[in-house]
Amino acid sequence: MAKVLRCSDIGMDCDFVARAETEEEILQQAAEHAAATHGMEEIPANVLAKVRAVIHDE
Ligand SMILES: [Zn+2]
Repeated sequence: MAKVLRCSDIGMDCDFVARAETEEEILQQAAEHAAATHGMEEIPANVLAKVRAVIHDE
């Protein structure tokens, strides 16, 4: 079962969706996306907490 993270689920006006087998891979995709699209060099702890909270199984 794949895990899914939607950028919009953490309150971003963004249609990015990360899909991976593990939370670690999702977080890596999210970090790359956040840097490339949202200009976040690293994800702040409060955003990371939100990300972990909204990752769900597809
Ligand atoms: Zn986004």
